[in-house]
Amino acid sequence: MGKFNYEVKDINLAKTGLEKIEWAYRNMPVLRAIEAELIEKQPFAGLKISVSVHVEAKTACLARALARGGAEVALTGCNPLSTQDDVAAGLASLDIMNVYAVHGDDEDHYWNRLRSALAFKPDIVIDDGGDFALLLHSEMQDLAKNLRGGCEETTTGVHRLEILKGENKLLYPVIAVNDARCKHLFDNRFGTGQSVWTAIMATTNLVVAGKTVVVAGYGMCGRGVAMRAKGLGAKVIVTEIDPVKACEAIMEGYQVMTMDEAAPLGDFFVTVTGCKDVIIGRHFEAMKDGAVCCNAGHFDCEVSVAELKKMCVDSTELRNNIIGYKLNNGNTVCVIAEGRLVNLASGDGHPVEIMDMSFALQAQSAMYIANNPERLPIDVYQTPEVIDNRVAEILLNTKGISIDKLTPEQEKYISSWDL
Ligand code: NAD
Ligand code: SAH
Repeated sequence: MGKFNYEVKDINLAKTGLEKIEWAYRNMPVLRAIEAELIEKQPFAGLKISVSVHVEAKTACLARALARGGAEVALTGCNPLSTQDDVAAGLASLDIMNVYAVHGDDEDHYWNRLRSALAFKPDIVIDDGGDFALLLHSEMQDLAKNLRGGCEETTTGVHRLEILKGENKLLYPVIAVNDARCKHLFDNRFGTGQSVWTAIMATTNLVVAGKTVVVAGYGMCGRGVAMRAKGLGAKVIVTEIDPVKACEAIMEGYQVMTMDEAAPLGDFFVTVTGCKDVIIGRHFEAMKDGAVCCNAGHFDCEVSVAELKKMCVDSTELRNNIIGYKLNNGNTVCVIAEGRLVNLASGDGHPVEIMDMSFALQAQSAMYIANNPERLPIDVYQTPEVIDNRVAEILLNTKGISIDKLTPEQEKYISSWDL
């Protein structure tokens, strides 16, 4: 037994996991630059950090960087289907942090692993979607009160923290890493755009060109998913609830309609709304035989798989990670990865260079919390601009790209109201 605890599927899977981690690491120059600073300054010495993020290779690089910066780390997943068992084993074999993550956990095991990752009383938490926040604002409130702070990775997580804050129930300060420009402009748009189609194409082995793709939600992720579908030659339909976003989608050349209207037309359906019940019973009934549904938004409630399970007359695994639900009308609706995040539950998630930026923000945001001598007042904070800019500057630097600088005259001109 080593120094740290682990709960992983099979420690013997470590070799491929370590290879994946090293491949990611060599392609993460921004995180490596931040890691060098962490190693030198040891900002996390004496601090414990609990991380609940998809347990795959890029996340492993983030968790290792935190450990190298002096933290005692406990890593767990944020989605029962996104854990890669070989990566969890690889990290556990290094014996540099506690790892609690097993692919395919049922609800009870999934939540218990989150509890295990919080049990060592962290000073800082890194959350993706707010599952830690949920525990810390319910059964583990004592831990929340002692937290120095948290960082939240994704849109829905930030949304939930804002609601807690609005109801005066937020128990610790949090940095909304998702809202940093170097996060949502790249991760949500280009990351989701690419990784969703990589996953759908690899899982189904079907052609996209000439097909009709229905994208539900035209936010940062939806723009990326629609843009890449168009690039692959699909006819794209967007559904929205926000009239301005709907107009934006029209200007981009997409058809906009309700899900009731889109349901009989789509070959592929991708939900990216953060909302629930976006595709429900009557939509499934209206779909073509063989229509493929998946979700890239939040949890498994955007495509109502629960309803589909109840209304179907039969269900079969048609291919790895695809279940076909046969309906009363004789048609089969296909669902990828049980309606959980398609890009992570049926793929490697965002490309490495995208997570490089997101996790460089996370590492710096955690450092910002650690470096503050006092606990920050309880609030949901924007990522400091200097952190955001630093990620972009390091990235430009690694590409050998320079950009213009304002002259003093320009500086004066743009900060004056008169001529
Ligand atoms: P966003 O707020 O920018 O966009 C969501 C859009 O969905 C909004 O335009 C909203 O009006 C629309 N919407 C809400 N309810 C709807 C409904 N019932 N029907 C149609 N449209 C609806 O958020 P985002 O940054 O695009 O993130 C969307 C979801 O994806 C969030 O849950 C986020 O956490 C998640 N996310 C997933 C990944 C991934 O890797 N799969 C990456 C980033 C974010
Ligand atoms: N935990 C929830 C929340 C959505 S996760 C759920 O699983 O339903 C969405 C987040 O996953 C994004 O904000 C993105 O930053 C992150 N992500 C995407 N690809 C990733 C990857 N390869 N590794 C780690 N995180 C990734």
